[in-house]
Amino acid sequence: MSDLKVVGNYISGKWVEAEHDGHLDIENPSTGGIIGKVPLSIAGEANRAVEAARRAFPEWSRTPVAGRVSYLYALRNLLMEHEEKVSRTLVEEMGKSLPDARAEMKRTIQNIEAACGMPILQHGDKMIGSAAGIDGEVIHLPIGVFAAITPFNFPAMAPFWFIPYALATGNTFVLKPSEQTPLTTELLTEYIDQAGLPAGVFNLVNGDKTVATALATHPDVNGVSFVGKTATCRVVAAQCAADNKRYQAMGSAKNHLVVMPDCSQLDELIRNMSTSCFGCAGQRCMASSAIVAIGDDMYKAVADRFVNDSKKFLAANPLDPEYADEAMLTGPVISAQAKDFILEMIETGIQEGATLALDGRDITIPGYEKGHYVGPTVFTDVTPGMEIHKTEIFGPVVVILKAQSLDEAIEIINEHQYANACSIYTQNGYHARKFKLEAECGMIGVNVGIPAPVPFLPFGGMNNSMICDIKMQGKAAINFFTEDKVIVERYWEE
Ligand code: NAD
Repeated sequence: MSDLKVVGNYISGKWVEAEHDGHLDIENPSTGGIIGKVPLSIAGEANRAVEAARRAFPEWSRTPVAGRVSYLYALRNLLMEHEEKVSRTLVEEMGKSLPDARAEMKRTIQNIEAACGMPILQHGDKMIGSAAGIDGEVIHLPIGVFAAITPFNFPAMAPFWFIPYALATGNTFVLKPSEQTPLTTELLTEYIDQAGLPAGVFNLVNGDKTVATALATHPDVNGVSFVGKTATCRVVAAQCAADNKRYQAMGSAKNHLVVMPDCSQLDELIRNMSTSCFGCAGQRCMASSAIVAIGDDMYKAVADRFVNDSKKFLAANPLDPEYADEAMLTGPVISAQAKDFILEMIETGIQEGATLALDGRDITIPGYEKGHYVGPTVFTDVTPGMEIHKTEIFGPVVVILKAQSLDEAIEIINEHQYANACSIYTQNGYHARKFKLEAECGMIGVNVGIPAPVPFLPFGGMNNSMICDIKMQGKAAINFFTEDKVIVERYWEE
């Protein structure tokens, strides 16, 4: 094998060379260059990690909560110190802009900070006199070994939607990151190691679905957190349900932005929408990719201005020093395969009769011809039910639809298979309230293009965007990672 760096596994407090079934190249999507190799670990590696986590659980779960979070404080400080290094690694293997990667690191760190509140958050409840002479008590206990299987697009934040909460509540952990972006998690694991957690409390196993399946079907794994495509959610959810494991499975999205006729600050609004649609090359689960303008006049105004503005949206290599600090930037999509799918969907849109008002297919970035770039692309005259409206394209492709009323816009949203997030732009409180109550999405924005909640609030969609009942972050995380044991207690009089 070449002298490219090979990512290791981290099991029982030690870096180990994976027992594997081959390797995959890790590609820099901005240049097409190969920057490392990731092992396709065999199921035995997952089993060893689970065994290490299972052995570590009794002592870790008995460690007082203040002791458990002390490691998280140390980790938080290490990540603050090395935020820039991790952000640059993230850009190199994922392709988002450096400001986006820094923002991701901030959310990663905030999740650790939120979990540091566990000495208060994990309190139970006691009801004195729940019946005559009887007290009732609810205690939130750690459960055992948890696993997470995470996607390529947020290689730092997505694992940290789970790891800090699981550890702070007294569980042990095995992470299988995306095989497309394993370098960021490797680096984060270095800092987890430096934070000094006892051996086996946190473990990392690299690989593909072989490792994921081994974790989701392992009898000693008590719960699985999954983030990825809805089709994969269904596979993992079915495996967990068959074994009576608890699971979270956050899936695909097609997020709508509704523009009401009362909006007057169109410049600000269009900029807000473009950042949501084209930032991270449209590869955020909270990216908007469908705009619904209400009424003929607003439709024309939004379509014209959005198309014109999108022509100016910068497409570039995010690590090109000239643009490294540029927040409004469309970088590459993750792979040649992802690019092919996006191009196929653009062709589908043309075939089904939508107007290709801005075509990003022929873009080249001088000096980076092997990168996987697609420029901002906009379809107008799109109607609900077209494939380009139904499908999560996961690239910088936006569809613009017209509706004649807010009711019609809400109907378009509510009939869509995905319901992660949606936003309304309006200054009218009545319309905003109606939208909040009637639009059936898990996360709702009012004059906010990316309504992504901070870690103190729950995060998760509805319908096919979330194949489970318990959201991530906030108090929901404590519900997921602890067992509510209920005690009914009585003592007879002496
Ligand atoms: P993906 O489903 O292809 O892969 C996600 C993870 O699942 C990876 O670790 C992968 O190795 C593993 N995997 C793949 N096939 C598997 C199988 N058959 N069984 C078990 N595990 C398997 O997703 P992706 O392309 O990495 O990520 C993009 C998707 O993630 C998009 O659909 C995006 O909307 C979604 N996403 C959703 C959220 C959310 O909060 N809802 C957040 C981020 C990303």
